[in-house]
Amino acid sequence: MIESRSPQQPDDVVVAVEDTSPASVQTAVERARTAQQDWARSAAARSSALTAAADALLGAADELADLVVREVGKPLGEAKGEVARSVAILRYYAQQVFDPVGEVHEPSSAGLLYSRRRPHGVAGLITPWNFPLAIPLWKAAPALAFGNTVVLKPAPEASACALRLVELLGGVLPSDVFAVVPGDAETGQALVAGADVVSFTGSVAAGNAVAAAATGRGRPVQAEMGGQNPAVVLPDADIERAAAMIANAAAGFAGQKCTATKRVIVVGDQGAFRDAFVAAVEALPVGDPADASTVVGPVIDSGARDRVVAAARSAVDAGGRVLTGGEALDRDGWFVSPTVVEGTPMDHLLACDEVFGPICLLLQATSVDDALRIANGVEYGLVAGLYSRDLNAALRAGEELETGLVKVNAPTSGVDFYLPFGGEKASSLGGREQGKAARDFYTSLHTVTIAPS
Ligand code: NAD
Repeated sequence: MIESRSPQQPDDVVVAVEDTSPASVQTAVERARTAQQDWARSAAARSSALTAAADALLGAADELADLVVREVGKPLGEAKGEVARSVAILRYYAQQVFDPVGEVHEPSSAGLLYSRRRPHGVAGLITPWNFPLAIPLWKAAPALAFGNTVVLKPAPEASACALRLVELLGGVLPSDVFAVVPGDAETGQALVAGADVVSFTGSVAAGNAVAAAATGRGRPVQAEMGGQNPAVVLPDADIERAAAMIANAAAGFAGQKCTATKRVIVVGDQGAFRDAFVAAVEALPVGDPADASTVVGPVIDSGARDRVVAAARSAVDAGGRVLTGGEALDRDGWFVSPTVVEGTPMDHLLACDEVFGPICLLLQATSVDDALRIANGVEYGLVAGLYSRDLNAALRAGEELETGLVKVNAPTSGVDFYLPFGGEKASSLGGREQGKAARDFYTSLHTVTIAPS
């Protein structure tokens, strides 16, 4: 039995639902496979259905935002933004339905030679809790647009959001085209065992297991995983602006974005930036995520809160200093103060791994070269930021940072859904998602030769 609890008020059980058994997952996959035949037939019908899905979400926008706040503790402003983005994603892919699906080439002799994209069949989607609407939809919308049907296995912590999403979309999509199978890892494994294409977002350990299982069956798989995202601050940066942006990127939504800044690498004298940054972090409004002014709400559960506190303590044990935060808050809910640490050795957890909470490490670099080396010196490669007015430095960042996304004078957090999204190194496996890149993943390219008889 899954119990999803509100992080700001843990005695509030948002939903209690049975795990979907492996046998029931297989039934859902088979029904989706049957529904896929009709669904793939008409691009115009798919476009209309996805547009109607966008309208259904828009009609329930306030209710959905409140549910996101309640179930995962996302601050209200960000929750509203996530709903708006979800609507936009559906509208965007509703139009991509009409994009060309192949190319015609000159045949080597008479006849017709062309390539054509076809859907895989049933897309099995496994998603995390931190974007409980946008991530399921940035996978489901292109999967559906290009003629697949979808079975979604949401994170247990976001079960209520997923159930409501599928309920709303179920009202406008044909039956069995978009199903949800609530559950934990075992349910996810059953989905991987049955789906024709698998898209995963979540932690590195789970993503690697999912990718290995899907690859073992010879099925296409993509896995978007964790990050250890650096922000490099050069001496010519607008210090106050950079400090405010990085504070938000590190601790907004309690640092629980795969794109959150985890390391802040300052080139040259750290003094002015350190003061501005600590002040900016301390100025972030912490509190009830339902309050429109809150930037930092709770973390998802008590384990996440304890991991942030333990990481700060171990930094001190390793010779580092906590510049601000590092403590659980004495209030109902799983709150921890936004935390900045410095002075740890480079093999410390905070310097090389992801702690999914409002904590980041301040590091010093002697030069731009040194900063880029430090930035690239981790196993992860999702996103990196650079703050500078120097065009040459910006150009170098775009070329040399080993991450899927590079942001100059912009927060590491935040993603444009109409551009390819994904990481390098341990952050990502398989093709990019979102934007026009999603079509490549959710379709298979066939080459057809037709000669006259
Ligand atoms: P998680 O890995 O614990 O769970 C993700 C999903 O995988 C859940 O639905 C879970 O039930 C399922 N799962 C776990 N083990 C599985 C298995 N062996 N087989 C099949 N399914 C399995 O991650 P989480 O705690 O929900 O989310 C936080 C993590 O997600 C962070 O590491 C964060 O960086 C990452 N994330 C990455 C991106 C990205 O696009 N790169 C976006 C958001 C979150």
